[in-house]
Amino acid sequence: MMRQFELVDRVVGYEPSADEDLLNRAYVYATKMHGDQKRASGDPYFSHPVEVAGILTELHLDCATIATGLLHDTLEDTEATFDEITSMFGCEIAELVDGVTKLSKLEINSSSPSQAENFRKLLLATANDVRILLVKLADRLHNMRTLHFIKSHDKRVRIAQETLDIYAPLAGRMGMQNFREELEDLSFSQLNPDGRDTVIRRLKELDETKSAVLDDIAYEFHNVLVEEGVSSSVNGRRKRPFSIWSKMQHKSISLEQLSDIYGYRVIVDTEDACYRALGVLHRNYRVVPGRFKDYISMPKLNNYQSLHTTVIGPNQQRVEIQIRTEAMHKIAEQGVAAHWAYKSFEDGLSGQGDTITPFRWLQDMVNQLKTGETAEEFLENTKLELFTDQVFCFTPKGRLIAFPTGATVLDFAYAVHTEVGNSCAGARINGRQLPIRTVLANGDEIEIIRSEKTLPRPVWLQNVLTGKARAAIRHVLREQEETSFADLGERLVKSLFASEGVEAKREFIERAVGVLGLASLTSLYVEVGRGRLSATDVLVSAFPSKDKAVLSSKAGARVKDVVSNAKDTKPQGHAVPVSQALQGMAMSFEEGYFPLPGDPIVGILTPEAGLKIYPLEASALSNFEDQEERWVAMRWDVSSDSQSRFHSRLDMTLVNKAGSLSIVAQTIADFDANITNLSLFKRDDTFHDLALDIQVRDVNHAKQIVNALRACSVVTRIERLVAAKEV
Ligand code: MN
Repeated sequence: MMRQFELVDRVVGYEPSADEDLLNRAYVYATKMHGDQKRASGDPYFSHPVEVAGILTELHLDCATIATGLLHDTLEDTEATFDEITSMFGCEIAELVDGVTKLSKLEINSSSPSQAENFRKLLLATANDVRILLVKLADRLHNMRTLHFIKSHDKRVRIAQETLDIYAPLAGRMGMQNFREELEDLSFSQLNPDGRDTVIRRLKELDETKSAVLDDIAYEFHNVLVEEGVSSSVNGRRKRPFSIWSKMQHKSISLEQLSDIYGYRVIVDTEDACYRALGVLHRNYRVVPGRFKDYISMPKLNNYQSLHTTVIGPNQQRVEIQIRTEAMHKIAEQGVAAHWAYKSFEDGLSGQGDTITPFRWLQDMVNQLKTGETAEEFLENTKLELFTDQVFCFTPKGRLIAFPTGATVLDFAYAVHTEVGNSCAGARINGRQLPIRTVLANGDEIEIIRSEKTLPRPVWLQNVLTGKARAAIRHVLREQEETSFADLGERLVKSLFASEGVEAKREFIERAVGVLGLASLTSLYVEVGRGRLSATDVLVSAFPSKDKAVLSSKAGARVKDVVSNAKDTKPQGHAVPVSQALQGMAMSFEEGYFPLPGDPIVGILTPEAGLKIYPLEASALSNFEDQEERWVAMRWDVSSDSQSRFHSRLDMTLVNKAGSLSIVAQTIADFDANITNLSLFKRDDTFHDLALDIQVRDVNHAKQIVNALRACSVVTRIERLVAAKEV
């Protein structure tokens, strides 16, 4: 295990101004917190964070990141708290440690590749500071290096697969080729040791015949370049077993057929020298057409820069060559980490040397992806666009689901299952109870709260974003609507039968179903409820002996009957009850009217809109005087202990002075009523005219409130309106 002073020396070695005290304190604190915890290897647990910090020093990262490496497991595995770390090491480090801890919590069993892609994007979206991802990758790298100590075979395989699916590609996307290759290779040796052994054995055989050649060729390239005045270092290099293996799988070819097992790197001093070296090599060797790429003037999306070419080399073999500067080489191997360490590159990187920070780098990458043109870039683009436009959330069992940004708890519930959506009453998000309209955030763990009493309502459509949820809600609403129209139809039919003194037996009404050529009893009721068929037609069809003309003549008396019923304090049994359940579907208050339980009401059957409820005093009722058939006797059906509330409108004049509105609001609140709307009609220096909409239980409740307001000195006039004022 690296000793305290060794670690500090390393950091000071590349960053002379490093805060040694901070590093020492972090080292000591982490040692203390992890105490005598042990790793699977039997080593003290603390050796792990120290090794992680060590890996980070190899990337020449700043003090805060090294300290985060030391502290990265304290929040999750020890008694340490966020507040304590904040007070001891400051906000920056506390946030970094917290970020790494959050990522660790997101580790899931990523058995399917699509989950892995989602998870990778989640990592990117969650880590708002690139350093969090760097620490996480170093953490994973050390865990992979010590994977063989873990006893459970299944656990080793799971971790290796997760590394191959998520962390290795993530490192690649961040431009950190060294990390990617090592992670891939460690996973490979766990997941397919035989495959790896085979590749290594064959490579050895190849090496025995070629390795001398490899050095010879490098030497010859070097000499040719020196002769033409370009100083360089040239290295021959072989691909890693895992990438050879994947290429063989991918292209279904044998190892011998792979043309690019060996490659050469020419490292020169300046960008200019890159092009000169290229010229020299192209003049001296035959160029393989179509293989030249200039990633210096057109850097790759992850800022990778190099010249690539393939020539027919010294012994008539195709040879791949990459030409770059030392700085470009660092970027090629360490990606975003190199950008962090070399914030102020003076030269070697064309035109983007001094101001690049890792964060900007990631953003630049996303921006470049958005304007990318090649097919490959487009593919990347669509994948990454998902990560900026989507949020990723977990079920309690760890399933990861992707949603468009702005999706809500309700979307989540419907994504889990339609039934879960239909009965969704809210959710516990990361343990906190929140309403159905709550917008989802990345990494949320969501447990849907279900209730048998819950029914989808039309307003739900405004609370969802996904097509699936929308379609499911519409479907249920249509069903509810059908049920509620059928219910209304049944009431209307039975009410007419009762007023005619006929028993509304099922067999009688079913006779009408046949006569009228309808499919079922339900569809008959729906037809009546929707006003496409009159209850009288049903009666006449059921009892042909009943004379329709006689019934129609009776209808004249019907309006009278309906009206007297409305005035009656004891309504007749056949009057249709105004029930909460039907409201909004087949039954609703006519717009502009605010009758309350206790007010006389009548119903007017309106085709396709169901039953519209009017207060008896509504002047609009005169429009229906000659349409007796549409009048329906109604009665309130609200028990005294009901929680139902009804809209009431108060029309008043207030003294225009500070605080008068708050007196009114307080008075209403004292009576346990809600204000739902307020509109100001006229305002001058002395008075306001305004309309207040409140929710109350019934007429008496409203009366109490009006009386109390009338007693307020700021209220000069008040009345309850049953019909909206014409303005
Ligand atoms: Mn760790």
